[in-house]
Amino acid sequence: QQGAAAPSHGTPLEVLRRVWGYEAFRGDQAAVVDALVAGEDAVVLMPTGGGKSLCYQVPSLVREGTGVVVSPLIALMQDQVDALSAVGVRAGFLNSTQEWSQRRAVEDAFLAGELDLLYLAPERLRVPETLDLLGRGHVALFAIDEAHCVSQWGHDFRPDYLRLAVLHERWPDVPRVALTATATRATHREIGERLDLADARQFVASFDRPNIRYRIVPKDGPKAQLLAMLRAEHAGDSGIVYCLSRASVEQTAAWLVEQGVDAMPYHAGLDRQVRARNQARFLREDGVVMVATIAFGMGIDKPDVRFVAHLDLPKSVEGYYQETGRAGRDGLPSTAWLAYGLNDVVQQRRMIDTSEGDDAHKRRLTQHLDAMLALCETIDCRRGQLLAYFGQPSDGPCGNCDTCLEPPQSWDGTVPAQKLLSTVVRLDQRGQRYGVGHLVDLLRGKVTPRVRQLGHEELSTFGIGQDLSEGEWRGVVRQLLAAELLAVDAEGYGTLRLTPASAAVLRGERPVRLRREPERTGRAPRERRA
Ligand code: ADP
Ligand code: ZN
Repeated sequence: QQGAAAPSHGTPLEVLRRVWGYEAFRGDQAAVVDALVAGEDAVVLMPTGGGKSLCYQVPSLVREGTGVVVSPLIALMQDQVDALSAVGVRAGFLNSTQEWSQRRAVEDAFLAGELDLLYLAPERLRVPETLDLLGRGHVALFAIDEAHCVSQWGHDFRPDYLRLAVLHERWPDVPRVALTATATRATHREIGERLDLADARQFVASFDRPNIRYRIVPKDGPKAQLLAMLRAEHAGDSGIVYCLSRASVEQTAAWLVEQGVDAMPYHAGLDRQVRARNQARFLREDGVVMVATIAFGMGIDKPDVRFVAHLDLPKSVEGYYQETGRAGRDGLPSTAWLAYGLNDVVQQRRMIDTSEGDDAHKRRLTQHLDAMLALCETIDCRRGQLLAYFGQPSDGPCGNCDTCLEPPQSWDGTVPAQKLLSTVVRLDQRGQRYGVGHLVDLLRGKVTPRVRQLGHEELSTFGIGQDLSEGEWRGVVRQLLAAELLAVDAEGYGTLRLTPASAAVLRGERPVRLRREPERTGRAPRERRA
């Protein structure tokens, strides 16, 4: 760093061309840069891969002093600084992973005016010395990256972000920019309020990622489905496979390796060095598949990720959008693929019921899940539904999602729903515990040991559902759960219960439209259980 010349001369466009070698700004970049150079505050909502970094990097070079970037992505700071150094930008970072001497060297460079950019972990601002340091140097602007971390209702909440309002109090004349790829109105509003940026210029980019093809398939032996998709469409491509649990990450990665896929696991329980090694391989080499929990991916800048697959249901549309957004940053055709089944709904509803936290918190989790389920069960354009969730209108069906390409059929499921719900009523009256499998057996009139044991052959609804297959019934249960026309008990077998909305269906006051399940492949029934 020492002695390097400041690359900071000229207009923003000159800096962009000379330092980064890019021809032109994209989208809102130029307007954001101009606002900051002029000393205004800004809030920038831009999808992953949209080019947020240049929005604060370029003005940091154009303005006098150092651009101070608050970022929670400690693990990536070294990479970011290296990438900047490679193009001649003088950058450093301060976080808890550093030795005292390293920290000292960065502080000295900052005070000597030899840094264009200084990355700070948010917890650094807890230490008064950091604020003193900033006070003794010359700050060009403050950039608050991943600004949605300020939202207490979001999935990435960082208490230290609430402290960031202090920057404005202490340095009212230094322009600030808050950036995020999370675009719901609620988060946007919170960023404005908590960071005191409601009056700043607001830049809201389109969240559409036209090159990503969204597909959500019913789970039917998910690992085999994934492998078939990889072989047919993404052989030799880089991609990410998300699983909910660490155990399934490891199992899936090992299984894919057995099938000849170059896969690696990544989750927070792995040894730090293993994680770093796997991440480095994924970033540097072609055709590596990372099987990961959602601990992986925030801030990962790999342009040619060709697919993002989910083997378990994401907890929210925000999470789904962020995770799938890691595909196709280079603008080339890419796939977002999700396998979703009955057990995902059951599992997540139960997880919410048994989660810590007050009722308001559970209601919020339920709302997040319901929006995600609505996206899974929709028979309309997925992209349209996604954009609508982020408050953005779209013009007609996109032609590049599964529902546009192969429009699903819907059917009148009112009568089957009534049969199912009235069976639940009868079982409820008997106070018995049972799972989904038993309920389906009952409807199909299957005499199993459990049916005999509980005397369920005598129920008036025994065998009234022989017109539908087991798979179709499971589809009905899943969709009723998704629509909250059916609920699942948190403990025990996961016994099904009615909900306040069920009564209207039973009384014939509420019709039920269901999505037709695709033809099942000829796999063994055990594997079908999704
Ligand atoms: P984000 O932080 O919004 O996810 P990045 O800032 O990491 O996005 O940018 C995504 C990619 O796009 C990076 O590889 C970056 O170099 C590239 N990029 C950004 N802006 C431009 C531009 N104006 N011209 C060409 N490439 C750009
Ligand atoms: Zn579509």
